[in-house]
Amino acid sequence: MLDEKKKTEWKGYDTSIVYDFKEYPDKVSGRCDNCDHSLFKSSIKDFVFIRECRNCGMKKSI
Ligand SMILES: [Zn+2]
Repeated sequence: MLDEKKKTEWKGYDTSIVYDFKEYPDKVSGRCDNCDHSLFKSSIKDFVFIRECRNCGMKKSI
């Protein structure tokens, strides 16, 4: 699906965009879909909770 956009050494998720958790629920709960890391930092942007992986930078709005 994201093959043409693949530009990292991870699983091909684009770390420059914010994925919607409803469309992209965690494959493994609490783990990054992109790199399988389990540490995140979180922020609030426009009243939306953003969870960002500390390893690869993949972002999801929760
Ligand atoms: Zn990650």
